Amino acid sequence: MLPQGANLQKIRDGKRTYAVTPHLPGGFVKPETLEKYTRVAREYGGTLKLTSAQRIMITGLKAEDIDNVWAELGMQPAMGFANCVRSVKVCPGIAFCKRGKQDSVKLGLELDRRYIKKEMPSRLKMGVSGCPNSCAEAIIKDIGVIGTDDGWDVYVGGSAGAHPRLGDKLAAGLGYDDTLRLIDTVVAYYRENADIERIGQFIDRIGFAKFCADVLARFAAAGEEAIPAAPATEPPAPTAKLPGSDSGLKPGDPITAGSIIADIIRVYPDTIPVLRGFGMGCLGCPSATGEALEKAAGIHGLSAYELVQELNKVAIRSERQ
Ligand code: SF4
Repeated sequence: MLPQGANLQKIRDGKRTYAVTPHLPGGFVKPETLEKYTRVAREYGGTLKLTSAQRIMITGLKAEDIDNVWAELGMQPAMGFANCVRSVKVCPGIAFCKRGKQDSVKLGLELDRRYIKKEMPSRLKMGVSGCPNSCAEAIIKDIGVIGTDDGWDVYVGGSAGAHPRLGDKLAAGLGYDDTLRLIDTVVAYYRENADIERIGQFIDRIGFAKFCADVLARFAAAGEEAIPAAPATEPPAPTAKLPGSDSGLKPGDPITAGSIIADIIRVYPDTIPVLRGFGMGCLGCPSATGEALEKAAGIHGLSAYELVQELNKVAIRSERQ
């Protein structure tokens, strides 16, 4: 039987050796903890190995020593079970890195606290990078976050391994709280709707347009509840406009230069790839999606006329289906 909290590593000449991997949030380790690792490894004949998930594994252990190893380490195993949040990889960010644009340590440790070992439809890895250099490999994580000058960009569906896939950009320029809230929304949607499949496989099965529209609509709706009513003299918060605005676009209506982007993607989610094709990658940003198409086209240096033509081709097609 497999000793508790250990992985089988090798069977050589009929003898089995095991590894233990304690949880190290964010890959941070105090000097005294490191001394404990070395003492335990030396005592039980183990070898220390740095893992890609920013942990330190002790491998080459015997089954009969595993309980004592855990008792002497006084730490928790990193792994829960097969289908859970396996790791949150965190780069040093602005806390330690001169290139950092956002506080990846703060965000990464909070994600670790919320999610590590939580049950999921399949295994799930997260990565938080403090700038677009992406040292935490956020783009190949199931949920990846990358800091920019404008805030956090959120990616979904990335993976490495045998079936590599780059994550799809779900949102750009979010603040700290909105980033956590969007990730909560992605996780809830994934848990409720996916089969036994990773987020990237789930997205490939249902289509990124649907995933994006469903998640952003839910994110916006939750934001609306959370936002206190604005005083009558102040304009409403941008997020309050996301689920639907006063442009009143309904199914069957033509898209015009005055249509609000949030309405367009809510009524015609199939238009999301068209908008992205025009270089409008900011579809998760509440303030950006609260703009009229004409204004957004101007910001991106696009022809509003051409954009409307292309969007209506897709809108008409989706109405006929
Ligand atoms: S991703 Fe950016 S902030 Fe993070 S370690 Fe790399 S260079 Fe530094």
